[in-house]
Amino acid sequence: MVNVFWIHGGACNGNTQSFLNADEPTVIDLVTDFGINILYHHSVSMEFGNQVKEILDDIIEERTELDILVVEGTVIQGPNGTGRFDTLFERPKKDWIYDLAHKAKFVVSIGDCACWGGIPATSPNPSESTGLQFFKDKPGGFLTSEFRSKAGLPVINIPGCPAHPDWVTQILVAIATGRTSDITLDEYHRPETFFKTFTQTGCTRVQYYEYKEPVEEFGQGTRKGCLFYEQGCRGPMTRSSCNRILWNRQSSKTRAGMPCIGCTEPQFPFFDLAPGTVFKTQKILGTIPKEVPTGMDSLSYSTHAAIARTVAPKWAKEDMFVP
Ligand code: SF4
Repeated sequence: MVNVFWIHGGACNGNTQSFLNADEPTVIDLVTDFGINILYHHSVSMEFGNQVKEILDDIIEERTELDILVVEGTVIQGPNGTGRFDTLFERPKKDWIYDLAHKAKFVVSIGDCACWGGIPATSPNPSESTGLQFFKDKPGGFLTSEFRSKAGLPVINIPGCPAHPDWVTQILVAIATGRTSDITLDEYHRPETFFKTFTQTGCTRVQYYEYKEPVEEFGQGTRKGCLFYEQGCRGPMTRSSCNRILWNRQSSKTRAGMPCIGCTEPQFPFFDLAPGTVFKTQKILGTIPKEVPTGMDSLSYSTHAAIARTVAPKWAKEDMFVP
């Protein structure tokens, strides 16, 4: 039996909604096939009130072993560092999170808010929100960089707004089945198996990216063209497997005509690039984007783009649809 406690901080509950839609494996599979015992989850457990307090006390006083602590949402530290904006049983939730994290064998952050603070931590951050071990892209966060769970690992970050449900259930299964040596983390503590490649990998528009053929208007789902040039798609600079492990097993943002908004990166929602919106295109000078794909400088990129467009074959400009 692998005991899991899921705690919810400052967030919209989107990661729970995503988690409940997992396919491979499903939440039911976690319980019936992989030995996961959900001690408490606010949306699926029958326990409430003092029953939840008893579960918490049993973990803190070490009558119950906590194998995996899952945190969804930011750690709210306001006002003035007291945490009184977000309490559970008359106690700041941040204190519960601190105690639980130090009892758990593994700590897993689900979604941007828990990983790096996400939207609630965006300036001016009135709730004094932070992620568990990062504040945006800066190491530290609530638990500090030195934190290691009882199994000796830092917080395992599964970002996204929300995180893809299969990323969550597959990491829980890896832990539950003792395959933690398979979990290699990147510099932001994201499992490489889901976050090593760019969102662009597997995108059905990538040939139009190469020949610099844009989609002119937002929301042109199956219309040909790349969403980078006019719609500000962040696929070439975002690490995620959204186009390899499809959402609902059938689609992704870019397949639906929606630019990638970079929601698995610590700096999300990039309000500095697009004040007040996450949708604004990044280009500033004609077709030269403000940001260039990771690994390129802007001069090389602009040169490459100009040549690519000049030599684009006829089919790249034809009025077609992409799957
Ligand atoms: S739509 Fe986005 S992810 Fe797809 S090829 Fe264009 S820039 Fe890359």
